Amino acid sequence: MPSSKTKHCLAFEHHDHRRCQSQLLSAARELCHSRNIRLTERREQVLQILLQSHQPMGAYEILGQLNRNPEASNIAPPIVYRALEFLLELGLVHRIECKNAFIGCVHPGHASTAQFLICKGCEKVAELDNPTTSLQQEASQVGFMIDHSVVEITGLCAECQAND
Ligand SMILES: [Zn+2]
Ligand SMILES: [Zn+2]
Ligand SMILES: [Zn+2]
Repeated sequence: MPSSKTKHCLAFEHHDHRRCQSQLLSAARELCHSRNIRLTERREQVLQILLQSHQPMGAYEILGQLNRNPEASNIAPPIVYRALEFLLELGLVHRIECKNAFIGCVHPGHASTAQFLICKGCEKVAELDNPTTSLQQEASQVGFMIDHSVVEITGLCAECQAND
């Protein structure tokens, strides 16, 4: 089994997700700590929910999971949106526009550029590591300063192609 401690697993690869999840959670905690930002219990809960799988989740689905907790009573949508906003700004989660959903980041700390492979079969989303695309390179060649660049690529992962 391939194992490297800090490198994340691509969502489509078979991997020990529980380990992946706990690594991502501790990376998030470290990031907050190093920036002197408080990851409140609610924000951490939202992040934990998003890290349960590599499938993106809508805000209402997150809300439903939060309210399933017997200790929480009637958490309202704005609370979830605020937590998501915080997590988005820090680069701990990303928004997947084409799904109107959110996903935990696999290498936390970058907020405005990301590339995703989105499988239409299993609905898993894999975030690519590559910080610059050729598109971004071309933009910078003409002196364009990018402030937001999110690439969403849809298709079928290897496993879903095999199951087709
Ligand atoms: Zn995983
Ligand atoms: Zn990311
Ligand atoms: Zn798939």
